[in-house]
Amino acid sequence: MTTRWSRDRARTTVWLLAALCGFGGRLSAQGAATAARGAPPIEITWLGHATFWIVSPGGTRLLLDPWIKGNPSTPDSLQDLGRYRPNFILVTHSHLDHTADAKAIALASGAKVIGTYDWVSAQGLPDSLQLGGNVGGTIKAGDVTVHIVPAMHGSSPDGRPVGFVLDFAGGRSLYDTGDTWIFGDMALINELYHPSIVLLNVGRGPYTEDPPTAALAIKKYFQPDVIIPMHFGTFPALATEAEVRAAFAGDRRLRVLKVGQRTTL
Ligand SMILES: [Zn+2]
Repeated sequence: MTTRWSRDRARTTVWLLAALCGFGGRLSAQGAATAARGAPPIEITWLGHATFWIVSPGGTRLLLDPWIKGNPSTPDSLQDLGRYRPNFILVTHSHLDHTADAKAIALASGAKVIGTYDWVSAQGLPDSLQLGGNVGGTIKAGDVTVHIVPAMHGSSPDGRPVGFVLDFAGGRSLYDTGDTWIFGDMALINELYHPSIVLLNVGRGPYTEDPPTAALAIKKYFQPDVIIPMHFGTFPALATEAEVRAAFAGDRRLRVLKVGQRTTL
């Protein structure tokens, strides 16, 4: 039987190991405060554009929408695909800025690829690496439960665009919006999953919603603890960091990461 004392000691041990191994090199003060409240940490690193590296409290390694090699916002030091050994790769839709390195990393690492059945099954991956689903579906990924939710975007020619809600230990959940525009069924996503962390598309340009619209989506539909903006600053057509900050002015939940920055929640 696990006592509270042993749980606390285990958490302390994890944090000591993290500090010794440098995992928490860029740990923010807010992240430290969140973790200190007792929940096992979720580690999130932004690799640029819509690509995130996430390590769950149980150590499951997740790579979201991998576009690393040739991504103009990803530092050269992070572009070597050989450094990424995920357990699972999650892909929200077919566009190259979300899929470019998914197959190569899956084949090299043995990671299973989660996305719509239509897209995943069209990649020529071995069956053992395919974890296709569809909206409303749930997929177990180590100690993380992945829910596939709608998104309003494109995904031609294979499947439809989706978002993901990741349920973690301790009752926390993370919503990766994908490239969606604001839509009314976000109210259902919040009602069903109550995401405490949102990876929020704020892209602007010809393809996605702009920062004020993204801010409206949060205001109308969600009550997260942390909002991490993404899909901005990669090209001149996309929103700048200043525009993102302006749209969320005064919202202390906004956490703008630098590319390569790791935060723990
Ligand atoms: Zn995109």
